[in-house]
Amino acid sequence: MSLKRVAIIGSGTMGRGIVHVCALNGFEVTMQDISDEVLGKSLKIIESNMQKGVDRGKVTPQAKEEALTRIHCVTDLERAVIDADLVIEAVPEIIELKWEIFAKLDQYCPAHTILATNTSAKSITEIAAATKRPEKVIGLHFFNPVHVMKLVEIICALETSEETYEIATAMCQKMGKETVKINEYPGFVTTRINAMIGNEAFNMLQEGLGTPEDIDKALKLGLNHPMGPFEMVDLVGLDVRLKILEYLHQTLGEKYRPAPLMVKYVKAGRLGRKVGKGVYDYTDK
Ligand code: NAD
Repeated sequence: MSLKRVAIIGSGTMGRGIVHVCALNGFEVTMQDISDEVLGKSLKIIESNMQKGVDRGKVTPQAKEEALTRIHCVTDLERAVIDADLVIEAVPEIIELKWEIFAKLDQYCPAHTILATNTSAKSITEIAAATKRPEKVIGLHFFNPVHVMKLVEIICALETSEETYEIATAMCQKMGKETVKINEYPGFVTTRINAMIGNEAFNMLQEGLGTPEDIDKALKLGLNHPMGPFEMVDLVGLDVRLKILEYLHQTLGEKYRPAPLMVKYVKAGRLGRKVGKGVYDYTDK
């Protein structure tokens, strides 16, 4: 089966990035969100990111214009997915919201439609249980910024069929992405490792091993990480990271207990770049 029509639910950081790569790679893509205002802002960001690609010589002006004509903005969920071959959900990381949306998707979508979630850590099996087609539910974990990052971590839930995995993989490859096949377990591969490294960095900071700058520099220059763990957590958001660690602690046990210093930063409102201050201070930058 070849996939032609994709619908993306939620047009925030991840949703609009997925729309961007779908449209540039020839898919007709419907972008759905709660209001026309949100959709308008997301479309502007997509246009601006595509323009940066044109300015750098990576995208032709014609490819950009054609891609933009393939993006259709809709607020009504049923209209957005009524003829979709693949739906990718990218709404906030709240399990009750994802259940509600997947139950509706199951009701509105044609029988053949594959339902994917971009969740960073929630159980795909639990999300699939909100539908009557768990064999057609899969995790497609894209990374931020989607148009730059090469990988999609493909997560097979308990009931995901091999056919669903193969179709989803082919689709991601058509979007120019590399893929890995992961069997579901809390935090998959990337979220679990990343949370662990970031938490360990906070443990080191509270134990007095070094300054944030030196710990970041050690990982960048000594281990070849492109970003230090504190630079990374400031980008992701300390509150987002803490929620992930709490989930991993609850599901996988003691070694994922959030570092008390991270909890303290979150309580103090030092949530990262988005508020101007996290581990580092961005207020005068
Ligand atoms: P975001 O807050 O930037 O965007 C969420 C969007 O969903 C918003 O535009 C919001 O208006 C919309 N939305 C909310 N309720 C909705 C509803 N009922 N119907 C339709 N749209 C609705 O969030 P994000 O960072 O894009 O994250 C989305 C998902 O992707 C989460 O599950 C997150 O864990 C995952 N994820 C995020 C990142 C990241 O770096 N931000 C990376 C990988 C995966």
